[in-house]
Amino acid sequence: MFTLIELPYAQDGLEPVISARTLSFHHGKHLQGYVDNLNKLIAGTEFESMSLEQIVARSASLPAPTGNPIFNNAGQILNHNLYFTQFAPRHSRLDRESAPIGPLKAQLEAQWGTLEAFQKEFVAKGVGLFGSGWVWLQADAAGTLSIGQYPGADNPVAHGLRPLLTFDVWEHAYYLDYQNRRAAHLEALWGIVDWSVVEGRYEG
Ligand code: MN
Repeated sequence: MFTLIELPYAQDGLEPVISARTLSFHHGKHLQGYVDNLNKLIAGTEFESMSLEQIVARSASLPAPTGNPIFNNAGQILNHNLYFTQFAPRHSRLDRESAPIGPLKAQLEAQWGTLEAFQKEFVAKGVGLFGSGWVWLQADAAGTLSIGQYPGADNPVAHGLRPLLTFDVWEHAYYLDYQNRRAAHLEALWGIVDWSVVEGRYEG
């Protein structure tokens, strides 16, 4: 049985970047729906005793994974759990949370030159993703970074890569606050990313 993760901040803690109203629907309704769906789908199957990562990796190898409701619901839970836990209220972010400082900073600068150059490409790839999906910062086993654009519930785990940071470009993530202005929403998200979490995922 999977359960809805608790948010590590108050419902209005990410305002004005993400409103309490968006968070209440996104976390309380959309994510809760994926959790309820997955629990029904895996009851009595081989997936029941697996972790989310294991379910995603296993179901991704089945025929037509993107049409597979187990892959879609497990992927959406995994993606949202990583998404919601990578943010911190803007006013309370410490210096180490406001920008990468360790090995991730060095790797980002080796590959993109500056953090700003990386952020620009990341947002462009999120804006350029047609329809619903996720843009990711991901790492391979050697620690080399790349930006992944995946439709629907797809994610780096399904491709053997490590997920580090993700922006949700499904309209439910921003439509109440930004309507059609996806680029403005994605650019604003940099103001609440907790880089200490992302750095931990890279080093972990
Ligand atoms: Mn979402």
